[in-house]
Amino acid sequence: MNIHEYQAKELLAKFGVGIPAGIPALTVEEAVAATSQLPGPLYVVKAQIHAGGRGKGKFKELPADAKGGVRLAKSAADVEAFAKEMLGNTLVTVQTGEAGKQVNRLYVTDGVDIAREYYLSMVVDRASSRVALIVSTEGGMDIEEVAHATPEKITTITVDTATGFQPHHGRAVAFALKLSGDLNKQAQKISKQLYEAFVALDCDMLEINPLVETKDGKLLVLDTKMSFDSNALYRHPDVQALRDETEEDPAEVEASKYDLAYIKLDGDIGCMVNGAGLAMATMDIIKLNGSFPANFLDVGGGANKEKVTAAFKIILRDPNVKGILVNIFGGIMKCDIIAEGIVAAAKEVNLSVPLVVRLEGTNVQQGKDILANSGLPIVAANDLGDAAKKIVAQVQQVA
Ligand code: GDP
Ligand code: MG
Repeated sequence: MNIHEYQAKELLAKFGVGIPAGIPALTVEEAVAATSQLPGPLYVVKAQIHAGGRGKGKFKELPADAKGGVRLAKSAADVEAFAKEMLGNTLVTVQTGEAGKQVNRLYVTDGVDIAREYYLSMVVDRASSRVALIVSTEGGMDIEEVAHATPEKITTITVDTATGFQPHHGRAVAFALKLSGDLNKQAQKISKQLYEAFVALDCDMLEINPLVETKDGKLLVLDTKMSFDSNALYRHPDVQALRDETEEDPAEVEASKYDLAYIKLDGDIGCMVNGAGLAMATMDIIKLNGSFPANFLDVGGGANKEKVTAAFKIILRDPNVKGILVNIFGGIMKCDIIAEGIVAAAKEVNLSVPLVVRLEGTNVQQGKDILANSGLPIVAANDLGDAAKKIVAQVQQVA
């Protein structure tokens, strides 16, 4: 799960991390009112969307030469003008894709006098089973580009979570950032605070870009992206409350309500499968037969009629879907129960595209009989290869 910049900064501030003062705003009036609570005379108006690259982004509704989603304002009147330009409009950045994201929230912050910009991020590194700190003197810009063009400017430091963040890790961060004196001490302190926040909040990614050195010698988090391990969210109701569903794909939000693992893809064959491994195999075999899956969908072990119906509805929301392949292994779930669910769901949603079903496992014959006697044009398949061939043939016939 991702959260907005202002939410992440407020969380980090609780761990003692320095951030510029700022106030979130949902309306132009709130943005203007925020200026009276900030020191001024420089403010920054920042579009809050779950994507980076806002500064260099473009608003669809504004002329091509208009500025992006991070604007420096010299007065409350500037803040008002920028807030009007941003709120409700669609910001397209390198991370949003062409569709862009509608800006519904702003963050009005104190404008900082920047001396230098650095980069610092943390991720869970599965290869080393540690937390990896990635540090660079080249902050503020596209880190992928830095990694590509000048990899020597990026330092990776790993922390063993069993022993935690040690003073030498802090010194290594400060050294990589080429800092001396008080700034060196600040870098050691802030990297420890960020590590503590990362672990305590069960983050899976925390990126500070840029971490800035101000002209008066302070290290501050100027921009941050934070994402959380969704399996640990139950431990953090306060973090869960920060979820902004308007930032997520509506079909994926709907799927999560039914505990379905759904990810939309670009092909035209909708897939309904139980088990992530079987779902991957199903997608592979569709490709092998010359078509592309429209989604990944794992209905999980306890698929019942409600779940199967929700899954059909979610798959059919996608206008690209020209056929559906159901591939279910009835282990814990029995095939006859699943077949009843499929028939009931297909009737309820008035299924308008070809449906191929492959069932295997407990009570498979009863399951197949239910499908055959349903009166619905369901094509039964004997195995995975047969199922893929049949659905690809059906869809290509339609096209
Ligand atoms: P991003 O474009 O989504 O990564 O948004 P950032 O918050 O990183 O802002 C982009 C750039 O705007 C930063 O790298 C800074 O150069 C600039 N910027 C943001 N806030 C300030 C500020 O308070 N003062 C100054 N001078 N520049 C800022
Ligand atoms: Mg940034």
